[in-house]
Amino acid sequence: MSRLWSAVVHGLSPYVPGEQPKGGDVVKLNTNENPYGPSPRALAAIAAEASDRLRLYPDPQATRLREAIAARYGVKAEEVFVGNGSDEVLAHAFPALLKQDAPLLFPDITYSFYPVYCRLFGIAYQEIPLDEAMGVRPADYRRACGGIILPNPNAPTGIGLPGPSIARLVADHPDRVVVIDEAYVDFGADSAVPLVARHDNLLVVQTLSKSRSLAGLRVGFAIGQRLLIEALERIKDSFNSYPLDRLAIAGAVEAIADEAWFQETRGRIIASRQRLSAALRGLGFQVLPSLANFVFARHPGHPGAELAAGLRQRGVLVRHFARPRIGDFLRITVGTDAECDRLIAELQGLI
Ligand SMILES: *Cc1c(COP(=O)(O)O)cnc(C)c1O
Repeated sequence: MSRLWSAVVHGLSPYVPGEQPKGGDVVKLNTNENPYGPSPRALAAIAAEASDRLRLYPDPQATRLREAIAARYGVKAEEVFVGNGSDEVLAHAFPALLKQDAPLLFPDITYSFYPVYCRLFGIAYQEIPLDEAMGVRPADYRRACGGIILPNPNAPTGIGLPGPSIARLVADHPDRVVVIDEAYVDFGADSAVPLVARHDNLLVVQTLSKSRSLAGLRVGFAIGQRLLIEALERIKDSFNSYPLDRLAIAGAVEAIADEAWFQETRGRIIASRQRLSAALRGLGFQVLPSLANFVFARHPGHPGAELAAGLRQRGVLVRHFARPRIGDFLRITVGTDAECDRLIAELQGLI
């Protein structure tokens, strides 16, 4: 606190990202990073771009990248917006589209950045409780609102909503924007991208951080009809004209183009998720049915905080949220099979 701060800063409650350890030999299963690394083609493109060209500003519209994404997802480049991580794309969507005269709706258990953005931008919101099975019940969103945002699959539960349920949600609110945050969609959930052509109120947000293993490059994107994208561009061009640098544009273009690497690595993660879920169930955990690159699990005999602290002492980081309803759960990123085996071995010593 300082007398020099603005009232806005006093009112903030910033997001707390998962720990990034400075060094040492830890198994890092706490921030949903991808264990397999980026496409070698992306790394080569980044290396090639690290040249005298860095004297020059990047393309403020990142046209090459928007064209690559458009080609991959079957939309037009003008229907694609790119940003410095999907967090930045989401951040722009709040004042551009979700700040209306009625509260924004999102689940009570979801990505904890949403209420942070609401505070930053002065947006009223209403949290809709998940059902007993920790799922989103679309019927609960059938009410007057200023907009809806939810991840599919949801985070940190990993539970997905089928495509028709998303379509229904979007159709129920033709005059409100529905943002579907598909940070984890490539690990098995239905994408809403095919619905964009039919719904001018749908914005789908994705990231290269998880399924394309580029969390360190900071690239995210949104797909929506032209007027929604234009709203995001108006915010972006009132804030930072060059959110994506030359290295990010070069690497992201190749990562999107390297379909073979993408398919192989995401397939491995999906297979390891099944194996990890089975091993955790074998130890007595309740494991929610995940369509993401993490699992959300609790043990009936041990508080989540105790397990997370015990694992940490043994050199394995997982994420624990000290929040109502989920305080006994651990969110565990799907690592390599060797990393998952190490987690299971350490848990055996704790329970
Ligand atoms: C990881 C994540 C993001 C943000 O990812 P970026 O690295 O900023 O692209 C957005 N939404 C959810 C639900 C996430 O888990």
